[in-house]
Amino acid sequence: MVVVALVFYRVMDSTGQGVAKADVAGVLIKPAVSVSQPLLAGLEDGACVSFSPTSGHVGQTVFIDAGHGGLDPGVVGATAAGHQVLEKDATLAVASRLAALLRADGYSVVMSRTRDTTVIKLAAADSNYGAITSSAVHRDLAARAACANAAGANVLVSIHLDGFSDPSVGGAETFYDAARPFAASNHRLAADLQSALVARLGVADRGVFTDDQLAAPTLTATGGSYNHLIELGPQSPGWVDNPSQMPGALVEPLFITNPAEAQIASDPAGQQKIAEAWCAWQESNLLPLAPQASALSGELQARERFSLGEHRPLPWRS
Ligand SMILES: [Zn+2]
Repeated sequence: MVVVALVFYRVMDSTGQGVAKADVAGVLIKPAVSVSQPLLAGLEDGACVSFSPTSGHVGQTVFIDAGHGGLDPGVVGATAAGHQVLEKDATLAVASRLAALLRADGYSVVMSRTRDTTVIKLAAADSNYGAITSSAVHRDLAARAACANAAGANVLVSIHLDGFSDPSVGGAETFYDAARPFAASNHRLAADLQSALVARLGVADRGVFTDDQLAAPTLTATGGSYNHLIELGPQSPGWVDNPSQMPGALVEPLFITNPAEAQIASDPAGQQKIAEAWCAWQESNLLPLAPQASALSGELQARERFSLGEHRPLPWRS
């Protein structure tokens, strides 16, 4: 099945114009008529790209967001041997491998990016001495949610890697938003992804948290009062105008500031393990997680306040 909603899609040209030929972190995305890009303005080439299944067809679409990219490296870590590991590289590698696995299982996949770029095209004003501005990060995150919506994704999975000043800190943690109408699905998705990952990688289980428990410094006065992840949270006029419309979770499988975990994150075998864990989860949980009304009562109360919030030195959290 190429594209169902042709009216919303532009099928890439026959050369794949940079997408079909893209070699994403060692995982070749084959030239195919199945590659398309939802029509959203201002996106990078290779960003917000949809791929049809390579085998079978279950009629569901998974939005896979490789965190950061381009001028935004995310966390910078290193292995014990001193090999630098950038969060943006590892997230793209894992995302690409997960996409391949899901497509082979009959899912359509939409990737927020397939290259080392931001999702939005940056202007000169979006860079400050080579670093991406907070305004651009905000718009980039909003574009990822808009992409998931435009593609009609059933589930959103945002892949990140963690960092902390103490290199001994490690483990996996997953975040979801408890303020959405489909909060119960969000929670289930987050919990299932987290447990699949911990079981497969054998890393410390740091837990599943609501996204208001992230101790992110404020981007702006507006962002500071938002108190949700832009990709997962509810609408907030002027800040999140186009919130994601499907269950979602943000997963942080490893700390790349921990040398042993940086080794796993930068190793193709480790990246594949992460992807396989999540794909196995999908097989056992039978997507989709249909949006459902949720009684939010107790959801937040049941969660302890995030006791490790002080471990977040990052300028941005997404
Ligand atoms: Zn990140």
